[in-house]
Amino acid sequence: MGADDNNKNNKTYRYNETPVYTTSNGCPVFDPESSQRVGPNGPLLLQDFHLIDLLAHFDRERIPERVVHAKGAGAYGEFEVTDDISDITVIDMLRGVGKKTKMMARFSTVGGEKGSADSARDPRGFALKFYTEEGNWDWVFNNTPVFFLREPSKFPLFIHTQKRNPQTNLKDATMFWDYLSTHQESAHQVMHLFSDRGTPYSYRHMNGYSGHTYKWIKPDGGFNYVQIHCKTDQGNKTLTNEQATELAATNPDWHTQDLFEAIERGEYPSWTCYVQVLSPEQAEKFRWNIFDLTKVWPQKEVPLRRFGRFTLNKNPQNYFAEIEQAAFSPSHMVPGVEPSADPVLQSRLFSYPDTHRHRLGVNYQQIPVNCPLRAFNPYQRDGAMTVNGNYGANPNYPSSFRKLEYKRVPTSDDHEKWVGSVVTRSLPVTDEDFVQPNWLWQVLGRQPGQQENFVKNVSVHLCNAHEDVRKRTYGMFYRINKDLGARIEKATEALAHKEKARL
Ligand code: NDP
Repeated sequence: MGADDNNKNNKTYRYNETPVYTTSNGCPVFDPESSQRVGPNGPLLLQDFHLIDLLAHFDRERIPERVVHAKGAGAYGEFEVTDDISDITVIDMLRGVGKKTKMMARFSTVGGEKGSADSARDPRGFALKFYTEEGNWDWVFNNTPVFFLREPSKFPLFIHTQKRNPQTNLKDATMFWDYLSTHQESAHQVMHLFSDRGTPYSYRHMNGYSGHTYKWIKPDGGFNYVQIHCKTDQGNKTLTNEQATELAATNPDWHTQDLFEAIERGEYPSWTCYVQVLSPEQAEKFRWNIFDLTKVWPQKEVPLRRFGRFTLNKNPQNYFAEIEQAAFSPSHMVPGVEPSADPVLQSRLFSYPDTHRHRLGVNYQQIPVNCPLRAFNPYQRDGAMTVNGNYGANPNYPSSFRKLEYKRVPTSDDHEKWVGSVVTRSLPVTDEDFVQPNWLWQVLGRQPGQQENFVKNVSVHLCNAHEDVRKRTYGMFYRINKDLGARIEKATEALAHKEKARL
């Protein structure tokens, strides 16, 4: 199975064919729009399998919505190695200029429900699945290089504040800013979110970043720490707050539509991929904690090295089968890649497959869009919805009658030693946490109107929060940059007072 076989079980009907309509067990039905009853007006019959099955299946059409990243769109494509990086990696997919690998992508908003507006101010999920010769490799990235937290136990708590108030069931600006202003390690991501990049023009016009640090094994058996950047070849294009708000009302599915229609037109979007590389020795001396998801690696110090490009060139035939059921995980890795000790990455290694087991079932890897080119793990058997033949008569244990080859894969085992006692620890917020957010404020200052837009984007949202929360939030912005703090306070209070006067 694999990417090319994704539609194998779902015959795509050509419209000049006239298929015979049947029940789900294949029995022809003469009149599917009528039900069996007693006489012309009598009660229905339980024996009417077509009706009962139709209703029962309809009742079960919905699977659990993703808790985060519920609204999304995706497509298939191809990755190509553009530059030789064989000196720093043994990953099969990346070795050999010109080498191509089939892949698929799913982009999404994070906090909104499945029916929410694509143009909402939110980070965007940027998930890629590569069907490599050595297994599926998923890049489960975002369109921002940092995140709100560096301690995984905060993730569900944080997400709750970005969703709906448990009593009113409304989005709640007080809850939103209450969390952020009391967890100020989020300041850097807040700067990204409230810049205009927080409302991308479309999925085609945004970058993707690994955010986390990964380990790539080197040909000599050592390893480097890496971060990956995917830069849009369409150029970064954003919406203003007003444009995003208007689109939410007039075309809430704009990003989904834009991606689908561009690919139908033959305008295939592409992204160029780069890697930042630090040796373990460099990482130890580095100013920034490379396992802290709220920090970037400054590009002047750790330059980007180009290695590939991917292009999306094929739309799915069926959204539910191929995009809704796509199941990505940072733990879907290939030989030559390892997770770093970043605690948020470590927790995602567990959490993503866990949510797929809940959402799609324990055999989610058998769903065609998730199938690797080849997999042979007969020790993992049975379970609900086993549809791959279940390895037939193959033994389900290491049998002396049916030998399997266990292939050695490169690891960093000999190069990394961890010692220490068990501690429960989350890093305190210090002045260092406000340095990189200030850099971004300076980056915005180099682009006409971007600082003004940032102040406006924050103030129209923050003005709806409780006064105490507003004040504490100004403190966070003052800590990033005094001018920024003063401008946010002035603009927000003006709007808050206007609102008070209106009421
Ligand atoms: P540089 O000063 O060398 O370059 C600035 C980077 O900022 C660009 O590479 C660009 O990333 C990104 N950028 C430009 N405009 C915007 C915008 N409106 N909103 C968000 N990002 C923008 O970068 P440094 O590495 O020294 O970091 C400076 C600041 O840039 C940091 O605060 C960081 O958050 C931000 N940044 C850094 C990234 C990194 O991985 N080092 C990646 C993205 C942003 P790109 O070319 O990827 O579009």
